[in-house]
Amino acid sequence: MKIRTRFAPSPTGFMHVGNLRTALYEFLTAKHGGGDFVLRIEDTDQERYVEGATDVIYNTLKIAGLTHDEGPDIGGDFGPYVQSERVGLYKPYAEQLVKEGKAYYCFCTKERLEKLHEDGVIGYDRHCRDLSADEIQKLLDSNTPYVIRQKLPLTGETTYHDCVYGDITISNEELDDQVLIKADSFPTYNFANVIDDHTMGITHVVRGSEYLSSTPKYNALYDAFGWDIPTYIHLPLIMGKSVDEDGNEVISKLSKRHGSTGFMDLINEGYLPEAIINYIALLGWAPTTNQEIFSMEELIANFDINGISKSPSVFDYNKLEWVNAEYIKAMDFESFTNYAKPYYDQYGLTEDKYQLLSEILQPRITRFTQIAEKLTFLKEFSDFDLSLFEHKKSKSNKETSIAALTDMIPALEALDWNSEAISNLLTGYATEKEIKNSVVMWPVRIGAAGVAVTPGGCAEVLILLGKEESLKRLKTSLDRLTKE
Ligand code: GLU
Repeated sequence: MKIRTRFAPSPTGFMHVGNLRTALYEFLTAKHGGGDFVLRIEDTDQERYVEGATDVIYNTLKIAGLTHDEGPDIGGDFGPYVQSERVGLYKPYAEQLVKEGKAYYCFCTKERLEKLHEDGVIGYDRHCRDLSADEIQKLLDSNTPYVIRQKLPLTGETTYHDCVYGDITISNEELDDQVLIKADSFPTYNFANVIDDHTMGITHVVRGSEYLSSTPKYNALYDAFGWDIPTYIHLPLIMGKSVDEDGNEVISKLSKRHGSTGFMDLINEGYLPEAIINYIALLGWAPTTNQEIFSMEELIANFDINGISKSPSVFDYNKLEWVNAEYIKAMDFESFTNYAKPYYDQYGLTEDKYQLLSEILQPRITRFTQIAEKLTFLKEFSDFDLSLFEHKKSKSNKETSIAALTDMIPALEALDWNSEAISNLLTGYATEKEIKNSVVMWPVRIGAAGVAVTPGGCAEVLILLGKEESLKRLKTSLDRLTKE
């Protein structure tokens, strides 16, 4: 049988990394077995509806490279793929169960149910489960509002299997006669979910472990209809690590206080989509080898449900950054530059500088946003602390700096502005004066950049700044040094 999985997000406007992992494992389960990956939007909970939220889902799947085979935007043989467009479809299924004696109309009022609750009754007391045919007809004839409930077994046990958690047994007494159709004729979420999965031919259900406790109810429906139960793959929670007031490490459900938890937020922090996907793939799934960097093709080839762990995994931002750095290092020059371009643009850097910029930055960054930090010196040049000119290791101090800058400013002014010419000038000067290269390189770099740490050396800094700006800055620095 062809494997069919589905990603069934509710449009909340936000893609949590946990949801993204669910989507990824669904995608990989389908693709590893040559199957189909279906997108279904579960939007019937109107209270949670957020404008534009479905676009967040489409965009995320696209950027993440999780291409669906069927879905609201591309169609398919099992549509509609948006739950709100399927509302008419569910009630006949519930009516079928009523006819077969497996479900019943429940006319209990809200007040009665509230009273039960107040009196300490847990769940529903099955008051309408055994109404006579006459009583039911009378209530229907008088248009008494009703819900449809499933008749669940009163005794015994139910066992089901989950690929991650193994066999799970629960006592049937714990199962309430669940509502399938509400008084407004709309299905409950649990009912719609089962009807959708069955009618869409879903063979493998991957979802968060918070659905484990509802699974016996889903199975009771599959059994009532005589349908095959899908293979279940419930995923453990994703945790985060923090430190409490006493300095103790605390592990708790991943939330904003641990760091970004949204896919788009991570992208905005300079992580590459491929790196996020690679990292998330390993967040709960262990390959059989020590390999850590996987392309999507490799993930598809290697992914195996048996490698999913039931112990919650901890989201490790340092590890994600390491994976990201590996991807950045492996990028070809053109891709790196394309990705970095928006950052270069912010600093007004033109195309003729791209080659140099990328050569300098690619080996030095682990996230793209660091480009901004590394290039701040291009925009900002303030009255920096002149003690920066003093650097023991470079044998530089204020006096040597004044001497070097006094000689180098006119020489640089006369120069054809390119890296090689700048380097030759500075090293030639050092040789001539019998001083260390650093005695001239240090003050020129500091005098132009105004910060101690720059990406690249002296010549690179001057090229990025351009001739005019470099000389202007060097003169200002020399001026300040001599006046001090
Ligand atoms: N719409 C549900 C959610 O977003 C998905 C439930 C499921 O996968 O069965 O949590």
